[in-house]
Amino acid sequence: MKDIYGRQINYLRLSVTELCNLRCRYCMPEDGICKKRHEEMLTEEEMVMAVEAAASLGISKLRITGGEPLVKKNILSICKNVSGVEGIREVCITTNGTLLPQLAKPLREAGIRRVNISLDTLDQSKYAYITRRDSLGRAIAGIESAVNAGFEQVKINSVLIGGFNDDEIVALAELTMKYPVDVRFIELMPMYDGGELGQRAMVNNQVVLERLPQLEKTDGDGGVAQLYRLPGAKGNIGLISPVSHLFCSECNRIRLTADGKLKPCLHSNTEYNIKGLGYEAMVEQFRKTITGKPARHDELSAKNSSGAGRNMNAIGG
Ligand code: SAM
Ligand code: SF4
Repeated sequence: MKDIYGRQINYLRLSVTELCNLRCRYCMPEDGICKKRHEEMLTEEEMVMAVEAAASLGISKLRITGGEPLVKKNILSICKNVSGVEGIREVCITTNGTLLPQLAKPLREAGIRRVNISLDTLDQSKYAYITRRDSLGRAIAGIESAVNAGFEQVKINSVLIGGFNDDEIVALAELTMKYPVDVRFIELMPMYDGGELGQRAMVNNQVVLERLPQLEKTDGDGGVAQLYRLPGAKGNIGLISPVSHLFCSECNRIRLTADGKLKPCLHSNTEYNIKGLGYEAMVEQFRKTITGKPARHDELSAKNSSGAGRNMNAIGG
C-alpha cells in the first residue's frame, strides 16, 4: 500500500520483546527496563495475526527485532509462523549475536533468510564497557555460527561513537576481508533517553570514507545504506546516515512494538494500538499507520533528540 506521499510501504519491523541480555549504553538503562506486565505484551498469536493483517495491505518484508529477539523463549515458533504467512516473501532478524551459537541453524530452518548482527567493537574491555556485559567471545562465535548456517546474507551493524570506536573503523571494516559479511556503519541517533553518550558522540559517516580512502563505490541494493567495498573483500561496507542525511523520502517501513503499538515513524510518538484487537480492526490500524506516516521527521541534533518517546529497545531498531 502507498502512503499519501506516494511511498510504497512494504516493510514491517516486528519487535518481539523489550528485554535484552545486554545493556548497550545508547539503547537501554543499566538496570534494564521497567518490565511491563505479561498481559500488556503481544502474544505469539497476535503477532502472527498482525503480520497477516500487514501482508493483506502489501507488506512483504519482515524484520524481527527487539530488545534482543533471541531471548524470547518462543522465537523459533514465531519465526516459523510468520515466515509461513501468505504474501511475506522475506523474513530477517536483527540480533546482538550472543545466542547465535545455539540458534543460528534452527533460525535458518525456521525460515529466516538474512541476519544482521550488532557489534560495535572488537576489543573485549570496550565491548564490556559499551554493552555492560562481558560477551564479546559469544558475539564473535555468533557471527561465525551465522556464516556457517547458510543464511543468504549476514551483515554486521556497528554504531559509530566518537572517542569510543572511531579508532576501530579500519579493523571493523576488515571483517569483510575475513568473513563473507557486509559491515555497516550507523550514525548514533539521539534517542529519547540519550543515556550518557549523548549527541556529542555522533560521528558523521564521512569519517569512514576519510579513514578508508581505498573504498570503491559499488552498486547493489543497500536499502538505506550507501555501499562501498574494500579491494578483494568478501562483502560490502555500508554507510547508514540517519543523522547527517535524513532518508525519509525513501522510507518504506513501519514498526510494531512488542506491546502492540504501530509506529508510522521511528522518531515520532504517534502510535496506533493493536493489542487485544481482532483481525479486521488490526487491518484498519495498519491502514491508519500507513496513511498517517509523516512526510519526514525533524532533524536530529544535539539540541533536538528523537521524538520517539521510547528508547530503542522498546521500539525495535
Ligand atoms: N538487540 C538486537 C541488536 O542489538 O541487534 C536488536 C535490537 S537493537 C535496538 C537494533 C539496532 O539498533 C542495533 O544495531 C543497535 O546498535 C541499534 N541502536 C540502538 N540504539 C541506537 C541509537 N541510539 N542510535 C543508532 N542505533 C541504535
Ligand atoms: Fe540490547 Fe540490542 Fe539494545 Fe544492545 S542495542 S541493549 S543488544 S536491544
